[in-house]
Amino acid sequence: AREAGTGQVEFYQAELGINARRQLELEEALRHAILRDELSIAVQSQFCGDGTVCSAEVLVRWLNGPEGKPVSPGEFIPVAEASGLIKPLTLLVLNQSLQALKQLEAANLSIPLSVNFSSALFHDAAFVDGVIELIGESQVDPGRLMIEITESLFLDTSDEVQESIDRLSFFGIKFSLDDFGTGYSNLAYLKKLHLSELKIDRRFVENLPGDEDNRTIVRSILSIARQLKLRVVAEGVEDVAQADFLAAHGCDLLQGFLLHKPEPAQSWLQGQITKKMK
Ligand code: C2E
Ligand code: CA
Ligand code: CA
Ligand code: CA
Repeated sequence: AREAGTGQVEFYQAELGINARRQLELEEALRHAILRDELSIAVQSQFCGDGTVCSAEVLVRWLNGPEGKPVSPGEFIPVAEASGLIKPLTLLVLNQSLQALKQLEAANLSIPLSVNFSSALFHDAAFVDGVIELIGESQVDPGRLMIEITESLFLDTSDEVQESIDRLSFFGIKFSLDDFGTGYSNLAYLKKLHLSELKIDRRFVENLPGDEDNRTIVRSILSIARQLKLRVVAEGVEDVAQADFLAAHGCDLLQGFLLHKPEPAQSWLQGQITKKMK
């Protein structure tokens, strides 16, 4: 038993070593990719009940990673968060999103865009200054920008986090609570965070309408949101039965592969502009 135990420890250490090296390689490659402006954005439409595109989410893409192939945000966002690279990464994503908003505006399209912000960013007043400055310079109406935050912000009740949210909110930016229901939900914070929107996490949508627990959870979220006058987006909608259930229970917006897969920003923009001209 002892021998087996020792083997296990060695195995873990070897694995940790490989992981640590992989993380470092990824971090270095990411640093260069950000410096060379090699990250891009994809856009995924969000649909209103009448089938029109009412808004859209921006998702970062790293198409040409260290091995010459795409790396998923699920892998490199944690590396960016752990290394501080999340700040320049987010500014890069924001910058490209503002360019897209300008192109939409030029085409007389008023589709707002949502951008994902990691919780750690709200601790940094200088970063928030940078965000406000970038938006100011772009002359884009801040009201057309939504920031998606996650419930991990609830863990932090510090003044600096609240101040960041207050400042961005005062500037006119809207907030959406992503992955709602998965974490540390504390209903009291829903108001404090100046939210406009809740996003029902994919895991509750997944087994609709078959799963009774998920049906109850989704109906409760929709009812809370209605009372707090928050708009609700369901994410990860993959089939018609899910879409029907959500629409029947008053979910405002649907997002998911059933309706639209994330698409490179330029091609998405072209699609919206073409549709508008028809
Ligand atoms: P998220 O914010 O929850 O974004 C939704 C994810 O679900 C996206 O994955 C999207 O492509 C995927 N998705 C959309 N519809 C469906 C569907 O119908 N079925 C399934 N199975 N998946 C669907 P993606 O682009 O790989 O991003 C993963 C996560 O990485 C995001 O989750 C977000 O947490 C993070 N992320 C992406 N872009 C950014 C960014 O610019 N900044 C930050 N901080 N995080 C980002
Ligand atoms: Ca999101
Ligand atoms: Ca989400
Ligand atoms: Ca998620």
